[in-house]
Amino acid sequence: MTKSVMVIGAGVVGLACSRALAIAGYDVVIVEKHAYIGTEVSGRNSGVIHAGIYYPQGSAKARFCLRGKQLMYQYCADHDIPHRNTQKLIVATNSAQDGILQKLQKTAAQNGVILDLISGAQAMALEPELYATSALVSATTGIVDVHGLLFSLLAEAEAMGAVLSTQTCVSQILRTPQGLHVTGNSMGAAFEMSVDMVVNAAGLGAPQLAATYWPDAPKPPALFAKGNYFSIAGSLPFQRLIYPVPEQDGLGIHYTLDLNGQSRLGPNVRWIDTPNYDVDVDAEDLFRDAVKSYWPNVQDRALSPDYVGIRPKIEGGDFVIRRDDRIITLLGIESPGLTSSLAIAEHVTALAQA
Ligand SMILES: Cc1cc2nc3c(=O)[nH]c(=O)nc-3n(C[C@H](O)[C@H](O)[C@H](O)COP(=O)(O)OP(=O)(O)OC[C@H]3O[C@@H](n4cnc5c(N)ncnc54)[C@H](O)[C@@H]3O)c2cc1C
Repeated sequence: MTKSVMVIGAGVVGLACSRALAIAGYDVVIVEKHAYIGTEVSGRNSGVIHAGIYYPQGSAKARFCLRGKQLMYQYCADHDIPHRNTQKLIVATNSAQDGILQKLQKTAAQNGVILDLISGAQAMALEPELYATSALVSATTGIVDVHGLLFSLLAEAEAMGAVLSTQTCVSQILRTPQGLHVTGNSMGAAFEMSVDMVVNAAGLGAPQLAATYWPDAPKPPALFAKGNYFSIAGSLPFQRLIYPVPEQDGLGIHYTLDLNGQSRLGPNVRWIDTPNYDVDVDAEDLFRDAVKSYWPNVQDRALSPDYVGIRPKIEGGDFVIRRDDRIITLLGIESPGLTSSLAIAEHVTALAQA
């Protein structure tokens, strides 16, 4: 029954799928257009293990985030991947936002995530540099060393026989009576390969590839949703992650920290024509303005341009994971895709076996 599967994309989702498929007995080849794994969306995010708060009940994001969070904590513990259950505060800074927190608490409860609503005074006692009129405490939010996770997933996939081919870009997938015919370019030379199945986990490149075999696939927006990050010099102002109330296209400019003891602010949302990874240095004042409502001392701290991530958005706003014949397509795997990756891999493996 062993079948050959090509997984396109060596981000966290492609690598998690490769590991799960290799463990399930498939012959896996992973193709990645860059020279290194995790150089696109997976290497440019907040590194947060999300609790499953914001997503509509029953949505793919809600389901995969909740299952993924559980699998992620277990995987990190079992494989010595640096991670920490930091907790997170979602803060209101005026009475209108107090009401938004109450709605968010209900949405989270519908997903099975219990958040404590505390007063501003209680929140400020927990985090002395904070200003809040009320806050939700998310006890299960945490952070993970994303690169440690990526290398662990790859190592396990390879130990089970998977092969990674970098600098290999797929341009077309054709269905033939014998199987799937994949063409592209590998290290400057044209390549073609026949495989039994394909998993399109190409992140920002997934819609363009899907267009070669699925004309009606949900489309990405005309513009790209760029998110800038600024790092904060000096000691950590907060021990927990701090998020404002969410905005329309993102979670609002939030405060995160990583396992190296570096803290940062971001990401904002800036819609751009063509993807670029240059930090918009002119956004620094906007960042200070956005966070000063919950962190008044921000004006005393130096901020430095850090990095940029681009959100792989798709119309409809939810994850799309679909098997058509012998092709499994993953579209719109934006946040909480990192948290969801192991659950998505579980589902993709079940789809492959169906
Ligand atoms: C700013 C930002 C912050 C985020 N924060 C969080 C967070 O804190 N927590 C969380 O859970 N999620 C977060 N996310 C979401 C998370 O980062 C993504 O959902 C996840 O990394 C997606 O992984 P992926 O493997 O699908 O995509 P990618 O990591 O982009 O991997 C796809 C790979 O496919 C390759 N590729 C593309 N086209 C081709 C082709 N034709 N041939 C070969 N290879 C190809 C690319 O080079 C890339 O390496 C965030 C996202 C952004 C943008």
